[in-house]
Amino acid sequence: MVVNATELGAEEYYDYIIVGGGTAGCPLGATLSQRYRVLVLERGGLGRGNPNLINQEGFLTNLLNTHAADSPAQPFTSEDGVPNARGRLLGGSSAINAGFYSRADPDFFARSGLPWNLTMVNHSYHWVESQIVFRPTLKTWQSAVRDGLLEAGVTPYNGFTLDHATGTKIGGSTFDPAGRRHSSADLLTHARASNIKVAVHATVERLLLAGSSAVGVLYRDSAGKHHRALMREHGEVILSAGAIGSPQLLLLSGIGPRPYLSSWGIPVSQHLPYVGHFLYDNPRNGITILPSLPLEHSLIQVVGITDEGAYIEAASTVVPFTSPAHSPLFLTVATIISKISGPLSSGFLRLASTDVNVNPVVRFNYLNHPVDVERCVNGTRKIADILKTRALKEFMFSNLFGERDFRFIGPALPLHQTDYPRMADFCRRTVTTIWHYHGGCVVGRVVDRNLRVIGVSSLRVVDGSVFSVSPGTNPQATLMMLGRYFGLKIITERGAHK
Ligand SMILES: Cc1cc2nc3c(=O)[nH]c(=O)nc-3n(C[C@H](O)[C@H](O)[C@H](O)COP(=O)(O)OP(=O)(O)OC[C@H]3O[C@@H](n4cnc5c(N)ncnc54)[C@H](O)[C@@H]3O)c2cc1C
Repeated sequence: MVVNATELGAEEYYDYIIVGGGTAGCPLGATLSQRYRVLVLERGGLGRGNPNLINQEGFLTNLLNTHAADSPAQPFTSEDGVPNARGRLLGGSSAINAGFYSRADPDFFARSGLPWNLTMVNHSYHWVESQIVFRPTLKTWQSAVRDGLLEAGVTPYNGFTLDHATGTKIGGSTFDPAGRRHSSADLLTHARASNIKVAVHATVERLLLAGSSAVGVLYRDSAGKHHRALMREHGEVILSAGAIGSPQLLLLSGIGPRPYLSSWGIPVSQHLPYVGHFLYDNPRNGITILPSLPLEHSLIQVVGITDEGAYIEAASTVVPFTSPAHSPLFLTVATIISKISGPLSSGFLRLASTDVNVNPVVRFNYLNHPVDVERCVNGTRKIADILKTRALKEFMFSNLFGERDFRFIGPALPLHQTDYPRMADFCRRTVTTIWHYHGGCVVGRVVDRNLRVIGVSSLRVVDGSVFSVSPGTNPQATLMMLGRYFGLKIITERGAHK
């Protein structure tokens, strides 16, 4: 069912045209294809045979290997000065991420503005989990951080669970026991092959509109040729291009704030003032140490969620480097990080060009809100508590006087953690991303409660851009669930109107 876009006709008709074969787009396409003729258009390729995508050891290398114009991780730096990445391949960001899998918290379902059917939510999570979610085996660093969290009072211990839970737990992973990555692209194996085409290297440039109704999309293949995908009667165009791609495409198609679009010379189809606004990213702060003993590679497998709402996670990375004598050496570094979920600081996205291939200008305004700073200080204090536990002692080095201490790489925590201004300064100086950016097409401002674009018919957005709160510990579980959920919902609603 996967084809190169060059193989498709200049004009073809489908019931559902999904823009973006990413985390939400793949399960959505697989589900809709059970009843309807579906086209999924993905700008990236398959990433086949790239070991950095398949194995968790390649996670960091892949994020750094971004020189090629079509690298699977598309780099961008927000105006805040923080380097970031977007998935650009089938499977989207789920094909380049750290693989941690955890369902959303109950509060998310109450606050997200959607009229959820929780039985269907549960069914949709199960559908994903039965195919691509595994129980990880903890090695040295993850076990130590789990024990450190418990010693530092992040309790109760919830063991292994996919559910959101305050305290310390082991979550699921989309890396299987052999260390091989699974992504939302795997969910396409449950599509009805005769009803779906998944075109890779298909970059959608804009939506095609007739008055205030979407009728199709214009996309370009890798040979530079344009194609039109058009909708059959009662069909829809569904944007699943992610929190950067979906607002960008709405703006390029003339759906957004009128004065802003006019300043770019883009004809206005629908004045929607908040397209690209309410854009959020969950800030990350933490420490990195050089441990006194070698560690295995590990991505996030354990999380501690404190009563104050700080999320503590950890990773250990084996970094190969060449010594002055040119013999390859391996160095392990280990991190403990604290993340804020649902920051109050928000930013916006603006076009940098009318060329869809150029990243928009993005600003998240990390830690602009004093409450976010306070939450960061709480999380960072908890990291300090963990570093003081027995569980972490064995990773310290002895100094000349026989005293044991950590060897930090980069900034160490302030010495006096009760000193709020210093801790707040540490937060602001060291803030970076955990890549959970979301918003830009949020519910109630750009899309309605059924994710239909306000004022435009036959057009929905189904991806992380619709949420003003990122779901759960980490979002991929809920975004895959969302794709399945909306596929089922659309099939049910259409059936009821026959
Ligand atoms: C490095 C990294 C690590 C992460 N780690 C974790 C983790 O461990 N656990 C977790 O839960 N979450 C993690 N996340 C976050 C999570 O992966 C994302 O929030 C989620 O995958 C976003 O899903 P989405 O469907 O909104 O967008 P995406 O999955 O990004 O899908 C968007 C798709 O649309 C395509 N697209 C965009 N524009 C166009 C266009 N014009 N034409 C055609 N196609 C287009 C893109 O190529 C992409 O495939 C991580 C993210 C990153 C980047």
